Amino acid sequence: DAKAQGRGMYRFFSPELNEAAQLRHMLVNDVRHARQRGEFLLYYQPQLSLASHQISGVEALLRWDHPKHGIISPALFIPLLEELGLMSDVGEWVLRTACRQNAEWQAQGLPPMRTAVNLSAQQFYRGNIVKTVARVLEESGLEPKWLELELTETLTLDESETTIEIMNGLKNLGVGLTLDDFGTGWSSLSYLRRFPLDRIKIDRSFMRDVTTHENAAAVVHSILNLAQSLGLTCIAEGVETAEQLQYLKQQLCSEMQGFFFSHPLPAAEMPTLLRAATLAGLSSAESDGTVA
Ligand code: C2E
Ligand code: MG
Ligand code: MG
Ligand code: MG
Repeated sequence: DAKAQGRGMYRFFSPELNEAAQLRHMLVNDVRHARQRGEFLLYYQPQLSLASHQISGVEALLRWDHPKHGIISPALFIPLLEELGLMSDVGEWVLRTACRQNAEWQAQGLPPMRTAVNLSAQQFYRGNIVKTVARVLEESGLEPKWLELELTETLTLDESETTIEIMNGLKNLGVGLTLDDFGTGWSSLSYLRRFPLDRIKIDRSFMRDVTTHENAAAVVHSILNLAQSLGLTCIAEGVETAEQLQYLKQQLCSEMQGFFFSHPLPAAEMPTLLRAATLAGLSSAESDGTVA
C-alpha cells in the first residue's frame, strides 16, 4: 500500500541525495531493462509541406513508458542510455520499429510519406551504421527514399573523412540526410559545404523568437537563403503559432513541424491524421484570416 511504499521510498532516498540525483539513480537502474521489458515506444510528429499543406513525413520520437512514472522524455533518459553504452542498441530498435511502421502504414493504403529517425553520436560512430540501416531497410521492405536520418549538429559530428564516408555510405543507400537543430553549433557553414546533406532543420530556438525578435528573424532569413543557394531544403521545427507559420511561408521555407499542427502522437493515432488529406488546422487558420 501507499504507506508501505512511502516508508520504502524514505529509506531508499537518503537525505543527502537531492531530488534530481535520486531520480537519476532510479532511472539508471530501470533504463537498463527498459528495452527487454518492452517499455520503449515511438511517438510520431507530422511534418508538413508549406506549399501543399499535406503531410510530407513524420519524425519518430522515442518515449519510455515507465511502469511507475509514466511517459518519460528522451531528454532525461537518452543521456543515460549513452552513458551506459546502450544507445546503439536502442537506436537500432528505433530504426527497425520506425521503418516497419512506415511500411505497415503504406501496406494499409495510407499515402506514402517519409519517416525521419534521429541518430545519436554513438550510433553514428560505433558499429557499422551503414550496414545496420541497409539491413533494417531490407527487413522492413521500406523503400530507402522514405527514410530520412536526422543528425544533430550538437552531437559532435566532426569533419573527418570518417564522418563524410559514413554519410556518403548512407546517401548511397538512397536515404535522406537532415542536419537537425541547425544554427546551434559552431561550424554550421563548413558543415553545409562538406556534408552530403539533403535538408537542414532550423532549430526551435530561432522559431520561438522569429516573430518578436529581429535578430532571430534575420538568422532564419539567412539560413533559408543559404539553404536555397546550396540546393538544400529547409524544415522549421517548433512552430507553435499562426504568426510563425505565416513568416515561414513568406520566407519560402519548404516544410514545418510543431505543436501548431500537432504534438507527437502515439502510432495508433497516426492513420486518422494521415487519412485527412487536407490539413484542418492550417486550412481553418487560413479561412479565419489568421494566416495570410
Ligand atoms: P529533436 O530531434 O530536435 O526533436 C524535436 C523535439 O521538439 C521533440 O522533443 C518534439 O516533441 C519537440 N517539439 C516539436 N514541436 C514542438 C513545438 O512546437 N514546441 C516545442 N516546445 N517543442 C516541440 P522530444 O520528443 O522530447 O525529443 C527531444 C530530443 O531527444 C530530440 O530532439 C532528439 O534529439 C532526441 N531524440 C528523440 N528521439 C530520439 C531517438 O529515437 N534517437 C535519438 N538518438 N535521439 C532522439
Ligand atoms: Mg530530430
Ligand atoms: Mg531538432
Ligand atoms: Mg531540437
